[in-house]
Amino acid sequence: MACLVKFKSVGKDIRVSKPDPRFARLLLEQFGGANGELKAAMQYFTQAFSCKQPYPDKYDLLMDISIEEFSHLEIVGATIQMLLSGVSGDLKASADESEIMQTMNGKAAKESFMHEAMFNPQFAVLSGGGPTLTDSNGNPWTAAYVTANGDLTVDLRSNIAAESRAKIVYEYLMSFTDDPYVKETLRFLMTREVAHYQQFEAALNSIQPNFPPGVLQSDPRYSNLYFNMSDGVEIKGAWNEGQSTQLREEWQYVAEPLEKVKKSNGLTECEPEGTERTEKEVLQADKALAKERSEEIKQATPLKAIQWSTYGE
Ligand code: MN
Ligand code: MN
Repeated sequence: MACLVKFKSVGKDIRVSKPDPRFARLLLEQFGGANGELKAAMQYFTQAFSCKQPYPDKYDLLMDISIEEFSHLEIVGATIQMLLSGVSGDLKASADESEIMQTMNGKAAKESFMHEAMFNPQFAVLSGGGPTLTDSNGNPWTAAYVTANGDLTVDLRSNIAAESRAKIVYEYLMSFTDDPYVKETLRFLMTREVAHYQQFEAALNSIQPNFPPGVLQSDPRYSNLYFNMSDGVEIKGAWNEGQSTQLREEWQYVAEPLEKVKKSNGLTECEPEGTERTEKEVLQADKALAKERSEEIKQATPLKAIQWSTYGE
């Protein structure tokens, strides 16, 4: 059986070679799961509102990707539905045993088919052979999957992480199906997450400065300390020697944290080391950036007669 659905929005045809209720269950992870398409769509949709001013360009980006994620949700839902082909018809034919026998080519075939469907009992007794808004274990989708912090640099970093997770879930899913059509669909969806990753990264880089996230600068006394919390092991790497990645401060490796805490009266009496930043400069930077960011928003947001959209002539 070959099914064909056409998504004009993304110009992508999707197909399945044959029903596979067991893989349909796994694929639910990307329908109503924590890293799935609904989560992505709702996350970017929600984040878009707070950044419309002063970043209308990022509002446009977030809304575009959000709507694309909805089209992915449609693709995943349609694929699940096609993989469940037969389950719904079987259930509806409960009053006519002979017809089921005909459809399923005998009792043994029917039993093995229902056994596969029962791999996710909800397909059999709740949704009547369609997708459910749950993850692969039947946990209901929740808004708790969505993160929106109202600071665009924080949100964009969340999105880069979300795209990474969505990508790896598709990659894992690909190893659980032999259906070349389903593999093709999964590869398409996986690839789009790779594209989104880079789009969010570019958007983040276009906001300067973007580190640290938010407005307030970090305390120079503590920002470049590495605490060695393991006894008798000192492992060095780029994360605790040389310069830090963003602030370019020299990492201070604290081999004996307890000693340092005792000597510094609980870290209250220590001077910044390995950094040129001073407390005075930090306060100046805090004030300057707070003013800049708040004025960007105020200037872009009228206080009277606020209208969301503008229309051309
Ligand atoms: Mn997606
Ligand atoms: Mn994506």
